[in-house]
Amino acid sequence: MRPFEYIRAQNPNDATQSAADGAIIIAGGTNLLDLMKLEVMAPDALIDINHLELNQIEETENGGLRIGALVTNSELANDIRVRRNWPVLSRALLAGASGQLRNKATTGGNLLQRTRCLYFYDRAMACNKREPGSGCAAREGFNRILAVLGTSEHCIATHPSDMAVAMRALGAEVETLKEGGTTRRLDLDELYLLPGDRPDRETVLEPGELITAVVLPAPVEGRQTYRKVRDRASYAFALVSVAGILKIEDGRITRADLAFGGLAPKPWRDTQVEAILVGNRPTEELFEQAADQLLAEAQGLGDNDFKLPLARRTLVSVLTELTQEARI
Ligand code: SF4
Repeated sequence: MRPFEYIRAQNPNDATQSAADGAIIIAGGTNLLDLMKLEVMAPDALIDINHLELNQIEETENGGLRIGALVTNSELANDIRVRRNWPVLSRALLAGASGQLRNKATTGGNLLQRTRCLYFYDRAMACNKREPGSGCAAREGFNRILAVLGTSEHCIATHPSDMAVAMRALGAEVETLKEGGTTRRLDLDELYLLPGDRPDRETVLEPGELITAVVLPAPVEGRQTYRKVRDRASYAFALVSVAGILKIEDGRITRADLAFGGLAPKPWRDTQVEAILVGNRPTEELFEQAADQLLAEAQGLGDNDFKLPLARRTLVSVLTELTQEARI
């Protein structure tokens, strides 16, 4: 690891100023320190935000939750309000990483963690995300864990977060603070960029812009689940995951909020999949139509071809689970 300056932020504006000057923000550090040890990232300075007061979970006026960026994944997963009203989020968090990592990893850091593409972490290999213009070793390489939707010829990396997939299904928004004190809110679709020809740019955050909180909308009626398919029972990233919230009234689906992990460079949501479901009776044929829509543009590159049938089966299985009572 190379030497770097360590700065402790005294307040949020301090953090944004240092970050705008080139320092990298550190909170839990569960991904950043690995990247620094491998010299995939070699910042001259770190700005430590752990002492800022961003670690509260507060109820909002409309019945939602405002989750401070420094709330740990363990605290959020175990919050009784989250478990009761947003169980898809609690389940997604508990499906991620290990207990030790969840105790350190923060809400803001989880959203901004980097891909686990093996070539991104190997400095001997070409990677447009690590070194723009160098190429993408994964396209012709071992791409089993990589994306089949939303990719470009320049990058096929997946976003690794489980938490973000559940938040995408829930319609969460991030609150940010920019250098100079201005704030803004972004939903997760706006926050994340697809790789296009600039896979090194992963979000719309500006230099120095700090995520201060995530806001969950008020709870909605319906059943919720998070299904993660992975190589091991724990401590493994998703090959395919589905966050689902479904409501059924009078035998018909009246709400379908679905987001997908392990398939794309960002938590994936396709409103056309949801439109196929809403208004109709839950049948296997309908679920297959939804899967057809989800995978209409999907493309494997060899090792990851298996994700297409796996995503289909996982979606159909999740929809079957969430509509089981209505189908009896
Ligand atoms: Fe790099 Fe993306 Fe290619 Fe992986 S898929 S090697 S992260 S450019």
